[in-house]
Amino acid sequence: MIPKSHPRYESLMIRKNLVKGFKDGFVAPEGLIAHGRGEAFDYLVGEKTIPMAEKAEKASAAYLLKAKNPVISVNGNTAALVRDEIIKLSRILPAKIEINLFHRTDERINKIVEMFKGVDVLGEKTDAKIAGIEHHRGLCCKEGIFSSDVVLVMLEDGDRAKALVDMKKTVIAVDLNPLSRTSLTANVTVVDNITRALKNITKYCEILRNNKAEIDEAIKNFDNRGNIDEVLKYISKRLEELKW
Ligand code: ATP
Repeated sequence: MIPKSHPRYESLMIRKNLVKGFKDGFVAPEGLIAHGRGEAFDYLVGEKTIPMAEKAEKASAAYLLKAKNPVISVNGNTAALVRDEIIKLSRILPAKIEINLFHRTDERINKIVEMFKGVDVLGEKTDAKIAGIEHHRGLCCKEGIFSSDVVLVMLEDGDRAKALVDMKKTVIAVDLNPLSRTSLTANVTVVDNITRALKNITKYCEILRNNKAEIDEAIKNFDNRGNIDEVLKYISKRLEELKW
C-alpha cells in the first residue's frame, strides 16, 4: 500500500497499475520498458503539462473535432492507465476506439476487449493492413484506422507513425520523448504524460466543439516543428536553471 503522502505517490501508482496490467496479461513486458523511457522524459519537463504541450493539446482537439472519421488507437499501456479518459473522449467527439497492438497476441487483444466491456471497440478482428508495416504490427480495421482521417496514437512506434503519415492521415502523437521518431514524424506532437494529456485534450474538445472559427484558428496557429523546438528549449533552460 503506497501512502498518499509519499512525494512520488502518482508516479508509483502509475507503475502499480502497469505492473498489474502486466500480471493480468494485457501490458507487454516491452510496455514496461517503454514506460521507463517516458518517465525519464517526464522528469525533464517537471512532471507537469508545459505550455507547449497545452498548445499541442488544443490543436489535437481541433483536429479531432474537424475529423470525419477520428480514431483513438489503444494499446496495453493506454488501457492500463487511461481507459476511462479514452472512453470519455471517444464519446464527446465522437471517435472510434481501435485496439492496435505492436506486440499483438489473441490473449492480449481479448483481455483489452474485456477491459472495454460495454463499449464498442474495433481491433478484435482485423481486415486491413497499415501499408508498409510487416507482420502482426500492421494489422488494422477497414472501418477504423485504415479509413480514418485523424488518428490519435500514444506510446506509438516510429515506423508505424510514419506509415500512418504516409497513408495521408493526420497523426496526433502523445509522447513524452520530443526526440522519438514518432514525435518527429507526427503532425501534432503532444509532449506530455498520457495521464495528463487525455484529460487536457478532452477539456479543449469541450471548449472548442461549438466554435468552428476557434477550431480553424487553433489548427492554423499550430506549427508542430516549431513547437517541438520550443519544448527542447524549455528542457535546456530548465536543466541550466537546475545546475548547482
Ligand atoms: P520511436 O520508435 O518513435 O523512436 P521508441 O522506440 O522509443 O520511439 P517505444 O519504445 O515504443 O518507442 O516507446 C514509446 C514512447 O512512449 C517513448 O518515446 C516514451 O517516451 C513514451 N512514453 C512512455 N510512457 C509514456 C506516458 N505515460 N505518456 C507519454 N509518453 C510515454
